[in-house]
Amino acid sequence: MTSNTSAEWFARALHVTSGGVNSPARSFRAVGGDPPVVMARGEGPYLIDVAGQRYIDYLAAFGPLVLGHGHPRVVEAIRTQALQGTVIGTPTPSEIELAEELTASITGLDMVRLTSTGTEAVMSAIRLARAYTGRPLVVKFEGTYHGHSDAVLVKAGSGASTVGTADSLGIPTGVTGDVISLPYNDLDRLSEVMRRVGDQVACVLTEPIVGNMGIVPPEPGYLAGVKEITHAHGALLIFDEVITAFRFHYGTAAELLGVIPDLYVLGKIIGGGLPAGAYGGRRAIMEYVAPLGGMFQAGTFAGNPLSSAAGLATLRVLKEESPYARMDRLADRLATGILATADQFRIPVTLNRAGSGFTVFFGPRRVTDYETAQQADATRFARFHRLMLERGVYLAPSRFEAWFVSAQHTDAEIDRTLTAVHDAFSMLQAE
Ligand code: PMP
Repeated sequence: MTSNTSAEWFARALHVTSGGVNSPARSFRAVGGDPPVVMARGEGPYLIDVAGQRYIDYLAAFGPLVLGHGHPRVVEAIRTQALQGTVIGTPTPSEIELAEELTASITGLDMVRLTSTGTEAVMSAIRLARAYTGRPLVVKFEGTYHGHSDAVLVKAGSGASTVGTADSLGIPTGVTGDVISLPYNDLDRLSEVMRRVGDQVACVLTEPIVGNMGIVPPEPGYLAGVKEITHAHGALLIFDEVITAFRFHYGTAAELLGVIPDLYVLGKIIGGGLPAGAYGGRRAIMEYVAPLGGMFQAGTFAGNPLSSAAGLATLRVLKEESPYARMDRLADRLATGILATADQFRIPVTLNRAGSGFTVFFGPRRVTDYETAQQADATRFARFHRLMLERGVYLAPSRFEAWFVSAQHTDAEIDRTLTAVHDAFSMLQAE
């Protein structure tokens, strides 16, 4: 069967997958329910759909594509590795080299274990914290997203909040009973809860800069406070840096903010566009992981040679070319332009930016946590999303995600995006 348009492809998808997608965050249900665009390929900072239409890509596949699509050095590394084997089932050089590079370049990462996804890495880091401390409880924050394992779907952000399943069906009370979800950026609530049950808490888990209720940075001193409270009660601090590691500089957000956790979770960029995740931290904790210790975690595809080769190639380009200042400048130009245009058309907008990632919230209020993020206007975002799509700009189909500028974007793409924003805001004002 041949299909020519997105609509035709998506009609087929609807027959064979729930909602036509393999991950709910890809659905357009939150932005009006139109069929999503079925993309044929990516090229640098562009996406090209099955009908040949081009879009400037600010999705970056939800984060991994810091070098855009098809960077020649990444493609070459994948090709070379594919000829040598795609999965082998023994230790291989590329995974060892990737682990060496990660531990050498990240403060507080003495040892690392590679997984296939961020979800597995978070799930394993939680198990490790429980194994190491001998305690059951996990403290996390509302509107953060840590993958789709049972424990972390309690009041989760990202796709979970977009489709309204922040508390998923199918999670036993035995699991939810051991998870406490608190407002982000609120040290008083954390202190109060830790005073009551801190001696039962295995870990406090957070994204250091949240990417999954839109970009929400920590208030000054917040993360240092979280670390102090966590350690005062003998619990471990886990930073989920699946989005943030290597996004803002060559290293982690923890290093940038000067607060080093006991365990890190990594993913996305470290796989160079192939499936990847990792967790790691202090040696004494990592020695609990099997086969050295009694915390079991495994994976046929863990430390996959293709993912490791792509990740390593990506890290080498980032290290050698350091595109961060340029990406920041472009994101700043775009963000400043969006705010000025919003002002011009009197559209209340709040913009949270961290380096090359930012979120446009349609509302006048500062966004510092899940409650304030949810107050942003969903209907207006849906309309804006559609108007931008019609003007060849692809944004994540949710108001709780980020725009990511990649190392392949240039001033030309930013100019064209700002023109689209101008058109879109003028239409929003008229409606
Ligand atoms: N943690 C964070 C902070 C994430 O943003 C994500 C994915 N968006 C995950 C974990 C889960 O990673 P994966 O989708 O690779 O399982």
